[in-house]
Amino acid sequence: MIILQKTNRDKESVKFLHSAIELKQRQARCGKIKSSIRDLEFECVTECNICDSDDISVISDRDRYGNPIRTAACNNCGLIFLMDRLTNESYDIFYKEEIYRKLIYEYKYHGRAISSKSRFKQQIQYAAKLLGSIDGIVDIREGLTLLDIGGSEGGVSMEFKKRYAVDATVIDPSLQELKVAESVGLKGVNSNFETWETDEKYDLILLCRTVEHLYDLKFVLEKIGTMLKPGGTFFMDFLDFNCECRRYGPPQNVSRIDHCFWLTSRTAEKILPYLGFKIKAKLYNLGSGNLGLLLEKGEKKPIAEISQIEDSLIYYQKLNDEWVISNLPGSWIGSWKYKMKKKIRRFIH
Ligand SMILES: [Zn+2]
Repeated sequence: MIILQKTNRDKESVKFLHSAIELKQRQARCGKIKSSIRDLEFECVTECNICDSDDISVISDRDRYGNPIRTAACNNCGLIFLMDRLTNESYDIFYKEEIYRKLIYEYKYHGRAISSKSRFKQQIQYAAKLLGSIDGIVDIREGLTLLDIGGSEGGVSMEFKKRYAVDATVIDPSLQELKVAESVGLKGVNSNFETWETDEKYDLILLCRTVEHLYDLKFVLEKIGTMLKPGGTFFMDFLDFNCECRRYGPPQNVSRIDHCFWLTSRTAEKILPYLGFKIKAKLYNLGSGNLGLLLEKGEKKPIAEISQIEDSLIYYQKLNDEWVISNLPGSWIGSWKYKMKKKIRRFIH
């Protein structure tokens, strides 16, 4: 959400959800965890995972935690991706050894952990919102098969099962989280979706709050395509990168080591048809900046010309300026202190 704030200094200044000082404090809290991340193995990616283009624009040279890693945008299809990321094996360690959760807890909640019970409750609330939104758009009936990829404790699947008696399976690499799913009567598969070998096909496939964390986005989306039964529905949600920038500032305030990929509502419109999906409906009401897409199998389409990539790049530059402006002191005392500091610094040098 943007709050336009009129000040004496600059009537066009924009206030972001965090200030530069708060961002620095959050980054400092993550200090120890960042050093353990530095010990992991990194790799450099310079080609787009979706369209293989190497025509890219670097849009950031660090992430929101302060890790010195770059983020790029593909100039062809618009996919935003981490250029410097962990290797697949290192991401396994990152997630399995809870480095990811510790990083999030420090960054967002001053180190306070979120219990499995709370996460389960959040998943149920999310499912209720989702089911309310898709009622009448998707025909969900008793006996349909559902696969929830990265379904964690299974709160979302459980709600589907409770309301429509669907036959629900949760696949998740975390055994601990999967045990919760199994304890409420869901089928569990303890595996990475990427490496899971199966001939099963499903009427409904869910990919909730997961797409950004994938290591090979194209592979996963294509695999989902092959696992959908005829007439089946695929639901995925994602955080729109440009909306996140509008809330938190330039790309370096949004990019993060745990998000290898980002979509925007416009790039999703290009990328998903390219991979053979037809967008049936968009859900803008899911909260927490999530955009939901209801998809079905369709004809593969070429990536259309997208002039808005340039618009996005200009937008990021503009946000960089607005970030600097909005973090200048607002009051006359603050402004005076800022000018004095600048003069002293110039004098010293
Ligand atoms: Zn691309």
